[in-house]
Amino acid sequence: MSKARPPKATPEEAARFVVGVLREAGHEGLYAGGCVRDRLLGRVPNDYDVATDAEPDQVQGLFKRTLAVGEQFGIVIVRYRGQQIEVATFRTDGDYSDGRRPDSVAYTRSPAEDAQRRDFTVNGLFFDPIAEEVRDHVEGVADVIAGRIRAIGDPRQRFSEDRLRILRAPRFAAVLGFRLEEETAAAGKAMAGEIASSGVSPERIRVELLKLLKCPGRARGWRWCRELDLLPVVFASAPGAVAGAERAERALAELPASLSAEQVLGLPWAAALHTASLSEAEATLRALRCSNKEREATLRLLRALEQAREFPRLTLSAQKRLLRQVDPAELALLLRATELAHEGDLRAYRQLQARRAAFAEEVGPARIDAKPLVMGKDLGKAGIKPGPVFGRVLPLVEEAQLEGRVRTKQEALALALELAQQV
Ligand code: ATP
Ligand code: MG
Repeated sequence: MSKARPPKATPEEAARFVVGVLREAGHEGLYAGGCVRDRLLGRVPNDYDVATDAEPDQVQGLFKRTLAVGEQFGIVIVRYRGQQIEVATFRTDGDYSDGRRPDSVAYTRSPAEDAQRRDFTVNGLFFDPIAEEVRDHVEGVADVIAGRIRAIGDPRQRFSEDRLRILRAPRFAAVLGFRLEEETAAAGKAMAGEIASSGVSPERIRVELLKLLKCPGRARGWRWCRELDLLPVVFASAPGAVAGAERAERALAELPASLSAEQVLGLPWAAALHTASLSEAEATLRALRCSNKEREATLRLLRALEQAREFPRLTLSAQKRLLRQVDPAELALLLRATELAHEGDLRAYRQLQARRAAFAEEVGPARIDAKPLVMGKDLGKAGIKPGPVFGRVLPLVEEAQLEGRVRTKQEALALALELAQQV
């Protein structure tokens, strides 16, 4: 008989457990950062982080199952009933000579000091789950209430320590629906150009951009990127996207707020990059180290979009082939958003939608997903020698099939033989 496994804990249950163990051992233990902010906003936190005055080896001694991931930064991961909680020792970060990583970190027993190393006031809050109270050392609650992203301390100094923070500001504005406090925005704008030369890795840039583009507030985040002159930096390989940034913003605003996991791979990138050339778009996605899946989904959509704009002028078979290359619903969303962004008319979009519906109803050999009536081996059997003739004849026969001009294998073969004589 197998023992019933305890059910998986929720992230909050796991965090509460971790805090309880730390407190019983006489340490401080608090929820920290994003989860505190999200709870105040009534949002479900992505993950729960715990901060403590216990040092990493003490944390490791208190829990059965831990992973030491970033010991040099004072971070231990505690596993509890299917969850992982990041436990960070309070620390003050040393100087940032490279603008990326602190040269040294020093532990402190003071949460107030730890709060000072965090980027924005709304991210610098702690919560004591036992007393059920927020600990605010950075006046972050007021900014949560006001919907404001404000750097902790002097924004210029905080941005020069780590220039990625300049991009994180619009990212949080997008995700939370917030705006940037004026001095924070002004410092970001003055320093945006420094991101490129400061050695912030493309991988970190991609993470923030992706969070910005994935969330329903993507157009708002994009607007802040424009406002801070960030686009020439993050889209340096796509001057066409920078020039078309205003239209990209409108296109992003026209996408549905929530997208499926499948749709999110390519649609927001395609909307953002739709005024760039295909080669600029590809260079950008590569420079940002996007996954192959993201890159392929985006480029497939952008290629299809070019044809979709001409939809009413395409032959029936070309329309069918186009709608086979991509998810037709995704293409329709992109076409609609980008046409609205260009104040173009929606004729192509409307016809595409009408045809999609009609094609879905169609039965028989002309339907959009029908197998070809004849294939290479059929031509071989009919006495046509394999070779370049195949390559020219087969697409023409398929075209005739999709347009309903041949309806049986016999008809298709007859057409193939006739065409083979001509080519
Ligand atoms: P999300 O919900 O997207 O995970 P988050 O607030 O948890 O948002 P993370 O990027 O996961 O953001 O970082 C966790 C916390 O670590 C932040 O809330 C912030 O306090 C701190 N932090 C993260 N990155 C930086 C940085 N570059 N500079 C300073 N503090 C940072
Ligand atoms: Mg987080």
